[in-house]
Amino acid sequence: MEQVQFYHALKVVKHVCIGCTHCMNICPTAAIRVKDGTAQIDNNACVDCGECLKTCPVNAIIVEQDDFSKIFKFKNRVALIPTVLLSQFPEDVSIAQIYAVIKQLGFTHIQEVDETVPILVNQTKEYMHKNHQDKPFISGFCPAIVRLIQVKFPALVSNIIHLKQVIDITAMYCREKLQDKNTQADDIGIFYITPCAAKIAAIKSPVGDEKTFIDGVINMDFIYNKVLLNIKNNKLDHKLIEEPNILQKKSIEWTLTGGEANQYDGRCLAIDEIHNVIEVLEKLEDEELTEVDFLELRACDNSCTGGVLVTENRFLAIEKLRNLAKNNKPNIHNKSSQEINKHESYLIQNINIGKIEPRSIISLDKDIMVAMSKMQKINRIMKVLPGIDCGACGAPRCQALATDIVQGQAKMNQCVFMQKLLTKEGLISPKESFEISEQTWGKNRFDKNEYK
Ligand code: SF4
Ligand code: SF4
Repeated sequence: MEQVQFYHALKVVKHVCIGCTHCMNICPTAAIRVKDGTAQIDNNACVDCGECLKTCPVNAIIVEQDDFSKIFKFKNRVALIPTVLLSQFPEDVSIAQIYAVIKQLGFTHIQEVDETVPILVNQTKEYMHKNHQDKPFISGFCPAIVRLIQVKFPALVSNIIHLKQVIDITAMYCREKLQDKNTQADDIGIFYITPCAAKIAAIKSPVGDEKTFIDGVINMDFIYNKVLLNIKNNKLDHKLIEEPNILQKKSIEWTLTGGEANQYDGRCLAIDEIHNVIEVLEKLEDEELTEVDFLELRACDNSCTGGVLVTENRFLAIEKLRNLAKNNKPNIHNKSSQEINKHESYLIQNINIGKIEPRSIISLDKDIMVAMSKMQKINRIMKVLPGIDCGACGAPRCQALATDIVQGQAKMNQCVFMQKLLTKEGLISPKESFEISEQTWGKNRFDKNEYK
């Protein structure tokens, strides 16, 4: 079966990229190669964790977002707000002011994404009870981690909890609520304000679900700048200020590290930052980590407060959210809670997702005999390559170059050590050796004027 490509929100701007290899070396799935002097991302291997974007010294990697004007295609325009947005602003900016500016920008409704957390918590408890034989359970909260498991740990896919996440539950709730009030389905536009690239990718190509209830995604840094500018320049329309909805503590803290793990009984671990997560998943795969009930795994350092589109320092953002959770007095009998209760059974009926398919990038061939033969070739090539992982061939490690060679995507002579040997043996000329390097690093790289 032909592999369907994942949607990716991260793009390399070729004319800005200087081919420095920083991104290639940090990518946890070895998805990046340098060719013709610029970084290239393999769509089948990338999990949209954003590590490459964070490390790029020249901002050559960007997150594509929907055009903001897309919201005006709909009469009813809902902004789905994750609590992490509230932690971005200075203390003297109130939640009511933030919401008022978002409405001023064109949204007609504000909905806190994390308001449906209590529903998901209860359903997750039931799910874990019913499927206790599938322990340890892995949360599906972070789309980058779900993709990481699909591509790098396919044997663990069945451990992922097959329930919708709050972003989808809340979007489904908004749609149902508005349609209940006689709003036409086509007139409802739901837009998520995202702190990371992985959520964009998950919305554009959902995993385990065929459709999404969300119509578009707006980057959090874009909204942050707009809101702050309007408030600073006294452009806030005070008529739009309303008493904001106050969420429960568990909803406010949901996106912080431990937000999920603290809700469940048994041995629950909360791990953030993708390389830490990989370490734990490797232990799980090798059965070195047993007797765990629940794993909360998040790709970003300090979870969503460390997302690539978040502006505030993550430690200050965490402090603000913890204070908000501590000091707010939610009224669970308020109008908004009553409205959710009204739709709860519909949400629960539709909370399950379909099968999550593994998408192994390490499987060398569908035919097991061919795959084994390719593996033997890789091992033979590895005996010849220098094994110093210098990256001068345009691949992050010698193992990655060996795999690319066997898959017909690279040549042995891309290795600079091989080039020296072949030149010494008279099998290629110095000119040919130079041209091979130009194919990896681009012609300009060797232009003396570039260094003046
Ligand atoms: S987003 Fe993550 S997985 Fe994708 S290329 Fe960048 S570092 Fe690699
Ligand atoms: S980090 Fe990657 S994208 Fe950025 S300049 Fe270096 S090679 Fe190009």
